[in-house]
Amino acid sequence: MKPNRITGSALARYVQCEASAFLEQDEQPYSEAARQGHRIHTPLEYWSLGARVEDIVARSHPDVRAQIPSLLEGAQRAEVEPLPGLPVAEVTFAFNPLTGKARILGAGLNRDYSGFNEGEWGGTADVIGLHDGGPAVLDWKSGKWIKPPRELWQMRFLAVCLQGVLGAPSGVFLAIHSTRSAKTNWQMAEPEDIAKWRQTLMNVGAAHAEVMAGREPAPTLGSECRFCASKNHCPAWIGNAP
Ligand code: SF4
Repeated sequence: MKPNRITGSALARYVQCEASAFLEQDEQPYSEAARQGHRIHTPLEYWSLGARVEDIVARSHPDVRAQIPSLLEGAQRAEVEPLPGLPVAEVTFAFNPLTGKARILGAGLNRDYSGFNEGEWGGTADVIGLHDGGPAVLDWKSGKWIKPPRELWQMRFLAVCLQGVLGAPSGVFLAIHSTRSAKTNWQMAEPEDIAKWRQTLMNVGAAHAEVMAGREPAPTLGSECRFCASKNHCPAWIGNAP
């Protein structure tokens, strides 16, 4: 059975339901909210790569141009310094769910995932760095309702990867910067949280390997079904949708 690519942003669904990693997927419409999020995200990426504010404003989409200076001001308050020797923005990690080992695939890859090894999962951090003396992962989000960072599997995955790359069993600061409120929600992922999340990822990886070896994947209904691109191909969803 051929798996879909497993990414940090879809991990919450894979943790709930192993079948969603294998069933056929329909193409999802690109929503206006996603389009607006991208328009805001791109200038923030330029900023974290060191571009000048005037240049970023000039190159930003007209729909969001007026917001850019205050967004950048909010992002600056997030207080993330570079980690010596590591890239800062748009950092893609590769994670091997069978060994639990992580590495940095590159920065600013622009969706070029050709460097992944067989079986590795990927996720991209908007910014990694140092906050208050400790390693940190910062993500920008433009949605209305944003969960705290420790509750997001995407952020948990990035914490596991960053700690793995640094090779020290330290905690990792997690932060979501809301581009709507220009506020940053910081939380600390303690070493024991990260160890637990790594173990869950490895359990999902082991189950994934069983399916690859021939076991039938089990669909599991839950809150993540709402965003699943495989609904129309899922035996559990068809006829049972709430
Ligand atoms: S619709 Fe729900 S149960 Fe079916 S594959 Fe998607 S996440 Fe799994």
